[in-house]
Amino acid sequence: MNYRVTILKEKFLTLNFKIGDFMKKLQYIFEKNKLWAENILSTQPDFFKNLAKQQNPEFLWIGCSDSRVPANQVLDLPPGEVFVHRNVANQVIQTDMNMLSVVQYAVEALNIKHIIVCGHYGCGGIKAVIQNKRLGLIDNWLRNIKEIYLRNYDEIVSLEGIEKQVDRLCEINTVQQALNLAGTTVVHNAWDKGADLTIHSWIYGINNGLLKDLKCCISSENEFLEYTQNP
Ligand code: ZN
Repeated sequence: MNYRVTILKEKFLTLNFKIGDFMKKLQYIFEKNKLWAENILSTQPDFFKNLAKQQNPEFLWIGCSDSRVPANQVLDLPPGEVFVHRNVANQVIQTDMNMLSVVQYAVEALNIKHIIVCGHYGCGGIKAVIQNKRLGLIDNWLRNIKEIYLRNYDEIVSLEGIEKQVDRLCEINTVQQALNLAGTTVVHNAWDKGADLTIHSWIYGINNGLLKDLKCCISSENEFLEYTQNP
């Protein structure tokens, strides 16, 4: 970090303690953004110029909207490396045109070869399903998870305590969403055309910052059929 950036950082760290109202906080965000950009340019002067020409991400990340699970930071990757779709409880619902459009663009236009469906432990959406909370519109969005919960009810309620139950359903949900993705026409069309496309199923620990592989990795229609017949 160069001298100017260090001075700026110290200035804004001090400012952070003095922020008393929202307008100052907004100003702080813009100043921090400037500092962030300057910091990158200090070591890679052409970083943004090159990025503006094209994106060439290696991964598509389908994750939860939870503010504690930001794709780039979790993967420790800079801008340009991850194409991202997020929604509450990292769901892949085959009638969701938003998600399908993202997946099709990622696979057909960006030629992405790895799609990561990433859940996280302690997911609020999953907890709301188990606790049968009524929260409004989001209850409709979580309806699919309710069905996953009921299908796995005996296993989940056999676990002691709500935390363990939530965490297990987080795992089961993530694997199910990866399977849902493998069942979409977009993915099947890609495999039919011989695309080298793999779907990964991972889960993130918000209490330790670590990713865990749930070992549901699907690279072909045959593998998809094996998983659906022997889950
Ligand atoms: Zn979540």
